[in-house]
Amino acid sequence: MRNDSNVVVGCDLDGVISDIVRQLVRFSRSKHSVSITKRHIVSENIETCTSLQREQLHDFFQNAEFFRSLPMVPHSRVLLARLKAAGCSVHIITDRFWYEGIRKDTTDWLVRHRIPFESLVFARKAEKQDVAKSLNAHFFIEDQLSNARLLAPLCRVLLLDRPYNQGELPDQVTRVNDLKAAVDLIVEWTRGLDLPHTSQRAPLRCPA
Ligand SMILES: [Mg+2]
Repeated sequence: MRNDSNVVVGCDLDGVISDIVRQLVRFSRSKHSVSITKRHIVSENIETCTSLQREQLHDFFQNAEFFRSLPMVPHSRVLLARLKAAGCSVHIITDRFWYEGIRKDTTDWLVRHRIPFESLVFARKAEKQDVAKSLNAHFFIEDQLSNARLLAPLCRVLLLDRPYNQGELPDQVTRVNDLKAAVDLIVEWTRGLDLPHTSQRAPLRCPA
């Protein structure tokens, strides 16, 4: 097993560490009396597969309470700690730009839930691949198929299986059941030292 910290893992936040779908179900009921279940969410574009309107979704995401009270995906803390123990540095990369103060709320949430991470980077969808490249990421854990496709040319992507991310995958993307399965694979590949190719650009400083 590697005992240094040069195995770099990029990790998405919402839908991977935070259970944003559960929060959407909860807020839909309590704020708009709209009854949806996890099974209804079969697309990244939630307004296309539920009765929620785009404006209602924006109301959720611009409400600080939505992000402050997000439930954590069970065992995330332990699983990410396992990656760290295996010699990986975990960089959390998230596309959260919904309101002023969301960076502090996000950092506070990660600290409160004792999530181990090396850095937290805020990056728009189109910038995520640039961040992965700058970090020289070997692996990336994602829940959105569109992001996985963008990241595939840069590193090995572990896509957590969800009803909303079904579709054809590039070679560099591996579909796994859950975060535990993603961590198991990364630890296994890290042990073998046969790491996927990465770019040689200098690491990006965390802007958060
Ligand atoms: Mg996500």
